[in-house]
Amino acid sequence: MLNRATYVSADRAAAAAARLIIKRLQVQPDMVLGLPTGATPIPLYRELVRAYRAGQVDFSRATTFNLDEFQGVGEGDAGSYRTFMHAHLFDHVNLSARRTHILDGRAKDWRSEVARFETLIAEAGGLDLVLVGIGRNGHLGFNEPAAALQARTHRVALRPVSRRANAAWFGGNWRHVPRYALSMGIGTILSAREVLLLATGGSKVTILARALRGPVTTQVPASLLQAHPNVRVLVDRDAARGLSPVY
Ligand code: PGA
Repeated sequence: MLNRATYVSADRAAAAAARLIIKRLQVQPDMVLGLPTGATPIPLYRELVRAYRAGQVDFSRATTFNLDEFQGVGEGDAGSYRTFMHAHLFDHVNLSARRTHILDGRAKDWRSEVARFETLIAEAGGLDLVLVGIGRNGHLGFNEPAAALQARTHRVALRPVSRRANAAWFGGNWRHVPRYALSMGIGTILSAREVLLLATGGSKVTILARALRGPVTTQVPASLLQAHPNVRVLVDRDAARGLSPVY
């Protein structure tokens, strides 16, 4: 079940997503959140920080799991998603360091790292709400388009399009973006009790229409959201251009 709301600007859509997260946290302060990185959620995190500083939200009992991390980087590395999360959220709100989980891209044994991550999610009781963006190729987390997808957290070879989309975090050169990442599996994401998809900007028009209106296919991983019972899609006008008002 997809519920969609369209906003005039990316900032408005992000603020609406932040408000929804705040509302959920007020009802369930110990909720378990799945969190994305990338350009899209930056204004959302800005809004969460603003709300925290204004005393409108308390993260002290919440638990978070990030969707993915590049392999080979970690704490303190400019391109790592851990560094991103500290810069945009963790350093500015009262989330407990013990309860903010990001895959360790530097783990020597990635197999045990992905298993550890799945165990932590299960021990936390599963994800209550996962916030996702959509990649230009339709990926969710780093679940790249493929003939088959892995259900659980795994290592993934990144497509050039995804490496290019992340060049900014690696000095602007896409060849410096790691070839592999660790990602929450599509089944892990879809096991969340609620999914919030935030998609903004004209670069998402085509893929968003394919994901929400096209057939459900592993070649557009985000299309699998159509099979989830509780998805809220927040878009700005630019991203919504390929969608009819009702679907
Ligand atoms: P973006 O990335 O927010 O930087 O467009 C989204 C994604 O790849 O999931």
